[in-house]
Order: sequence, then structure tokens, then C-alpha cells
Amino acid sequence: MQRYSAFTLFREGLRGHRGWRPAWRKAEPRPAYDAVIVGGGGHGLATAYYLARNHGITNVAVLERGWIGGGNTGRNTTVVRSNYFYHESVALYDLALRLYEGLSRELNFNVMLSQRGMLIAAHTPTQMEICARIANAMQLNGVDGDLMSAQEAIRRIPLLNQSPDARYRCMGGIWQGRAGVARHDAVAWGYARAASSLGVDIVENCTVTDLLIEGGRIKGVETSLGTIRADAVGLTAAGATPGLAALASVRLPIHTYALQAFVSEPVKPCLDTVLLYLGTGTYVSQSSKGELVFGGGLDRVPTHGQRGNLPAEETVISGLLEMFPAFAQLKLMRQWAGVVDVVPDSSPVIGPLGPEGLYLNCGWGTGGFKAIPAGGWLLAHLLARGEHHEISRPFDLKRFAEGRLIDEAAGSGIAH
Ligand SMILES: Cc1cc2nc3c(=O)[nH]c(=O)nc-3n(C[C@H](O)[C@H](O)[C@H](O)COP(=O)(O)OP(=O)(O)OC[C@H]3O[C@@H](n4cnc5c(N)ncnc54)[C@H](O)[C@@H]3O)c2cc1C
Repeated sequence: MQRYSAFTLFREGLRGHRGWRPAWRKAEPRPAYDAVIVGGGGHGLATAYYLARNHGITNVAVLERGWIGGGNTGRNTTVVRSNYFYHESVALYDLALRLYEGLSRELNFNVMLSQRGMLIAAHTPTQMEICARIANAMQLNGVDGDLMSAQEAIRRIPLLNQSPDARYRCMGGIWQGRAGVARHDAVAWGYARAASSLGVDIVENCTVTDLLIEGGRIKGVETSLGTIRADAVGLTAAGATPGLAALASVRLPIHTYALQAFVSEPVKPCLDTVLLYLGTGTYVSQSSKGELVFGGGLDRVPTHGQRGNLPAEETVISGLLEMFPAFAQLKLMRQWAGVVDVVPDSSPVIGPLGPEGLYLNCGWGTGGFKAIPAGGWLLAHLLARGEHHEISRPFDLKRFAEGRLIDEAAGSGIAH
């Protein structure tokens, strides 16, 4: 792997940038692997990397039907945080945040992590009470979380709409200082580059069309590029996972919805935290280029379309203007949607699917970008050892049969 450094950049500058090599190998699929990962989003690529890095399993292919990171990983609003309520979730999301904190160095790829803090703003005494419970739960679970006052919120975000006729005045909320944003494409590319350098084959434009199951265990996959055999297969296909699971005769408790994101024209620095309004569900941050990156709640009509629609757009934009009336002057530059895989308890599914050797990592819904390092770490553990890591065990599919739901609707429903 060509190492990236200030020195390499300087040297390439002197020779007209002619020495850069492709960041990862474009591989043709081989007939068999030790492990196959279906889906080249962040979770699939991280799984491949940790299989090689943590378990020494390098005879691995990531099969992606389009281009890597072209699914939700490249479509999200880049927020990372671990401000969840239950200890199972905090263990999972804080593992991810801790891995994010060292990721640029680990992958030798700048994922542009910016821990600028996040405020979840409350507008009523009841919401403040819920925020206090979440902040207390976070502290008990050993992660940074504080209850912030209205005065402190306004000090940090002076443009906040606190006028007497504001519909949702900020009363304070939950603050997590280690939360922030990271560049989504860089996370996908960084994992792809590091996995490829360890020997993983990254195969784009390769759609998995069927699962080969013989005698109750997985034996490989059928793809648009032919049959590929493997005794261990991980499904990390987000909204497409229920369709793949159906090929193994398993019906997953997952619905797919469109979630939209928006980017304004760039402006000078005006917002240096991530902000979410509980009242409207709209959240916003400012990118390093100056654009306001924002989004809101789901459009609750099940779909596989990656387009979004005007009614959802209107709701999100009115929420933004409620927070910052001055932003009405900005031009909207881009809008898009991703298809997110939503589980009834708003927690992911990690674990065996049924046939031996076949494992799931899905159900991340509106908030799986922040979890990519942990999702990959835990699925790699399952694929390599055939058993759960302690952190993934509570997220097994069995929780629905056993009634052990991890209901994080408040922590993940709209906050991403
Ligand atoms: C608008 C929006 C905003 C969001 N904001 C945030 C946020 O701020 N913070 C946060 O934490 N999360 C956020 N999310 C959620 C987050 O993006 C996802 O949970 C996360 O990216 C899921 O990663 P993944 O690798 O599981 O899925 P994906 O990145 O979707 O990857 C799945 C891949 O599988 C491929 N695939 C599907 N079927 C097949 C097949 N049959 N064969 C081969 N390949 C296949 C797809 O092409 C796709 O590339 C947001 C999502 C959206 C849409």
C-alpha cells in the first residue's frame, strides 16, 4: 500500500502528481473464498478489513452490486455519536466512536473526524426530563453526556431562534462533546484501501442473486458474475438484506423507507456543533466547505426508491428555518435519499441468520454510519469464530422471539 503522508504529498507535488496509484485493487472474483461479504457499504468493507486485520483471514471477497459506498454509506449526513440509552447500545456505539477516534491513523486515510460536539435540543419540561434521564444513563454507562442549560446552548449556538414568537424555543438538552462528523466517502474508501492492501478482493458491479445452501449450511453465493463458493457469508446489504434473507427462507422484521438529506450553498462558519431539534426532528451541521448539511425524519411510506419527495422535504426545511430563520436566504444545492432498513426496536441485527455459516449485519436504519467500525469488528468476529462477541450478543435476531427488545426509538429514531 502506498503510504499517505505530508512527505508523499510534497514529493508528488514536485513530480506533477504522476506517482499516485489506485487506492485499492479492482478485483475479478475467484471461484472460492474463505469468506464472502455481500454489500460494499461501510459495514461490509469494515468487516473485510477486520477479518484480515484481527483474525488473519485474508482470502475474502466483498461483492458490491454497484460501486463501493454508493448505498447509504455515501448518502448519509455523517453524524457520529454514542448518546444512547441502554447499556447494550452504549457498548456498541461507543466501541464504534472509540475506533473512529483512531481510524485515520489506523487506516492511514484521513476520515476527517471532527468531534465538535452535538446538542439534542429540548423545548418542554417533559423533554428536558427525558434528556436528563438519557444524560444520567450515559454517565452510568461510562460515556460522556451532560445536561446542557438553555444559556449554555445559546452561548454555543448564538444564531438559535429564541425570539418570543419562536414555536420551539430551546430549553437546553443533551450534550455529547465527543460526538461530531466524519467524511462518509473517506470511511468507505479508507476501509477498502486498507482491506485491499491486506489481500481482500473488492469486486464492484457484482450482484448477489442467490444463496447456495446445502445440508443446512451456507456453501456460497450465485452472482451476476458466476458462482462463488465460501463456507462463511456475511450479509451487509442494508435495505436489500430482507430480500437476501428471504432466499434462506427467513423473514426479517425490517421495513425499508426513504430518508432524505440536503445540502445548502456554502457560507462562512456559523455553526460549529451538530444540532438536533426534538420538536421538529430536523438536525444540521456545517461541513468543512461551509455547506449546511441537514436532514430529518423518515418518510413513513415503505419504498426502495432512492429519491425522496417534496412533502418530506418541506417538513425538514421548515424545521431548519424554525431553528435558524436567517437560513431562509440560502440556496439549496443538493437533495437525495437513501433506503434505510428499519427494525421495530430501532436497534441493529447482528448474528446468525439460520443456515450455518451465514450471518447478518443490518437494521441500522437511520443511524448506522456512526456504527461502521463496530459493525465490521463484530461481524468479522462472528465470521471468523462462529460465535458472538459479547457486545453483539444482545443484538441477535433471537431477541424478537425471546421478547428482549432494545428499544432505542428515542436514541435513534430521528437523531441519526
Ligand atoms: C439521508 C441519510 C442520512 C443518514 N444520516 C446518518 C448519520 O448522520 N449518522 C449515522 O450514523 N447514520 C446515518 N444514516 C444511516 C447510515 O447511512 C446507514 O445506516 C449506514 O450507511 C449503513 O451502512 P451499510 O454498510 O449497512 O449499508 P450501505 O452503505 O447501504 O451498503 C449496502 C450495500 O449493499 C449493496 N447491495 C445491496 N444488495 C446487494 C446484492 N444483492 N449484491 C451485492 N451488493 C448488494 C448496495 O449496493 C450497498 O452498496 C443516514 C442514512 C441516510 C439515507
